[in-house]
Amino acid sequence: MNAVERVCAVAARTGGWDAFSEVICRHLKIAVSTQKDLKRIVKQKTSADVVQKLAIFARKQRGRRDTCVLGGIVNIIQNLEKDETSIQEMYKQGLLDFVFQCLTVPIDVSNFRKLAIVVSQDIIMEWRDSDTWHNISFKSTANIASIIAEHVRDKTVFGALLILLENNLTKLCTYRMLQKHTIPAASLQSLQLPRLAATLVAYYQSSALNDLPFDTGKSLFVALMLSPSISIRFRGLIGLLNLIHSDSTWDFRFCNPQRKYLNLAFPPPENSCSLDMSRDASAGLAPMIFPDGSTFDSYGWAMKFVEYEHQGPKNNDESFEPPLTRIIGAPVLNMFILKHMESTLRAKGKHYEADVFNFGIQMLLIRTLKMTENESQPLFDVHITARLSALDGIKRWPERSYFYYAAIKTLGGPECSEWATKGIKCTDTTPHLRRRISYELSFALFEMGVVFLALQVPETMWWKDGVKYMKMCQASIQEALGLMTGGSAEQTMLVVLSFIAEYLVRGPNSESQLPSGLSEKEALVSLSILKVRECKENSELQEAVSTFLPLRSEASKKWSSLISAMQKMPLAAKEAQTFNDFTGDFWKYDDNMPATVMRMYFEKTKNTINGSTLPQCSTCHKPTVGLKKCGRCGQTKYCSEICQFFDWKAGHKAKCISPEIST
Ligand SMILES: [Zn+2]
Ligand SMILES: [Zn+2]
Repeated sequence: MNAVERVCAVAARTGGWDAFSEVICRHLKIAVSTQKDLKRIVKQKTSADVVQKLAIFARKQRGRRDTCVLGGIVNIIQNLEKDETSIQEMYKQGLLDFVFQCLTVPIDVSNFRKLAIVVSQDIIMEWRDSDTWHNISFKSTANIASIIAEHVRDKTVFGALLILLENNLTKLCTYRMLQKHTIPAASLQSLQLPRLAATLVAYYQSSALNDLPFDTGKSLFVALMLSPSISIRFRGLIGLLNLIHSDSTWDFRFCNPQRKYLNLAFPPPENSCSLDMSRDASAGLAPMIFPDGSTFDSYGWAMKFVEYEHQGPKNNDESFEPPLTRIIGAPVLNMFILKHMESTLRAKGKHYEADVFNFGIQMLLIRTLKMTENESQPLFDVHITARLSALDGIKRWPERSYFYYAAIKTLGGPECSEWATKGIKCTDTTPHLRRRISYELSFALFEMGVVFLALQVPETMWWKDGVKYMKMCQASIQEALGLMTGGSAEQTMLVVLSFIAEYLVRGPNSESQLPSGLSEKEALVSLSILKVRECKENSELQEAVSTFLPLRSEASKKWSSLISAMQKMPLAAKEAQTFNDFTGDFWKYDDNMPATVMRMYFEKTKNTINGSTLPQCSTCHKPTVGLKKCGRCGQTKYCSEICQFFDWKAGHKAKCISPEIST
């Protein structure tokens, strides 16, 4: 035991972390315990010096496990975090890493672990520039992941660690985009992803759950769908879809959880695939002659195909998707012939028709590949090309209805409603395109609703966005059903969608009185019709609902204790009320969002130092010593330049009046 440890041991009998910090401060001849001390550091600009002394001392503790000393240091760091300059210094001198290292000190003093978690949280949650962000994520992820399993029984700690992990991984998802290169090997190594994966294997390795005997994995998610809580029911569906979807085209899976992070529609990954839009007409100048000497009317048949794309089938009970061989009268159809057909359209100056033909063929290709191909790459490529063609089509033909439908179908996402409105307004829209648009829109809105309601924190503004999407989805389904008659595959599929959407919203006890008048029986009949017809449209959802309905009674027996635990949660009734009462609009993702997020966090953090309350930053509400005043009005106070910037953009610009001018 060295001198400091001895004094700390004495202090342990008298006070908490503050007492240990006091001993260390005296030993290092620094003062950081009170608000006054911190103000002095700010004024005299001594933070670099103070941090250096502490950093050297902290480095000497490597390998030691005296939680009194370690806790004292972490506690000082927490105090220093109330001053922005000191944070920068601590970041530079590696003191923040020290906190993350403290997370994994094997100890049995739970208070020390909690202190390390709280201070790590403060470091990770703060909004910073992307370099710092990524760096902090690299340094903390492995440490957090390695202790998470020890805390599964402590709900608060476990939850906090999960949020930190999610936060880090989300930031790392932006690495390539912001740093313009991939994560360096050494940094990637430092994340210790295999270890992390082992913790999360149940979720990410869908086959692991699928391999459980007697449908245990599936029935768990079915049980979640029987919960009285809206958000848990939606999580159950996401889980089921996760078991069903094929990993080959993860980016295009139905209800992709990644949609949570994207405020915009999926941007097509740049460079991964270039759009083959040569728009070459030369091949179409010569006629297509088959080996037996007969000529093929490429132009005529191509125009017929384009017309089908706009007008749809003659009979109401046919699928929207054109049965290629019936529309095009050719003995064989291959890519060579299809390319020739497109070229003949271009050769005659029919560029719009050629673009429609091109997109329609890609849709056919996707359906064919889905049925036959298990290789991911070709399917992935066609999907990407289709997205690019749809966006390109909107740009080239903004007055044409068709490509708005194409964009909704291939991209989904929050822009869909706008595309639908534009598409319907176009003068060239047909009843068939109108049906297609509202059909695809219903599914796109459902996806967004599911992801937000399942994965956002209940009752937050993002969760309420999910409420909005789901309500729009239900309205869109009713509208789409109103446009359809005769029992096409699409109408049948909409009945299934309508059933599951209403079930998920209303819960297990009210399905007999669904307002649309659709019953579970009708959903089951629809599913069997789709199966007989081999309709692959939205096949993941078909399979999820087909799994859910028959497994319910078994799941409620197998997971009865889970279900009764869920029934006792107070959350459910409140959620349902919020869902029913919500009539607001989407949360606006404006420039001020980072500040709002930070405010939500800092309003709950410790805002005192040695008993005295700290002043708060005008933007993020972070308790801070040495806030900087706005240079013009001297009224508002900020913890950092970033916060001043956010506030300026968010409206301070208009309110800021310098005293001289106002008098
Ligand atoms: Zn601030
Ligand atoms: Zn001002």
